[in-house]
Amino acid sequence: MAVQRTLSIIKPDAVAKNVIGDIIRRFEENGLTVIGTNMTHLSAAEAGRFYAVHAERPFYKDLCSFMSSGPVLAMVLEGKNAVALNRQLMGATNPKEAEAGTIRADHADSIDANAVHGSDSEENAANEIAFFFSDLDLQSRLA
Ligand code: ADP
Ligand code: MG
Repeated sequence: MAVQRTLSIIKPDAVAKNVIGDIIRRFEENGLTVIGTNMTHLSAAEAGRFYAVHAERPFYKDLCSFMSSGPVLAMVLEGKNAVALNRQLMGATNPKEAEAGTIRADHADSIDANAVHGSDSEENAANEIAFFFSDLDLQSRLA
């Protein structure tokens, strides 16, 4: 398995619940390393740019409004198979379908307020990381 980087976002609902530490603990205990963090409050236009791939979906407007409703914590995670591993730790998009013990099963209230974002491919991860970070912001700690 190759070492990869992926983007995680702790969404406004989970930031408001003060569970940043619990979410990061899950990443670290499962072999992922946090190599960059950026806490920011997106405007609706910035959220719209980040989620441009969903522009035609019926939930796009609500998604942009939710993602700009409060601060988020964007993070770059590094580790073996990081893209799929992060998705596995997150659980399904709809928390009702998320496997027990996943971040969304434990912290998400609905399909809208679902606690975390995670890149779904290595290619999207590179683009999403570049949205929030410059290379100079990242501190790889590979041996
Ligand atoms: P994921 O975040 O699991 O990668 P998607 O990329 O499909 O899921 O969707 C992006 C985000 O849009 C989801 O995390 C969720 O917040 C929202 N979303 C997706 N599908 C719906 C839906 N049917 N109704 C409302 N919001 C949705
Ligand atoms: Mg997605």
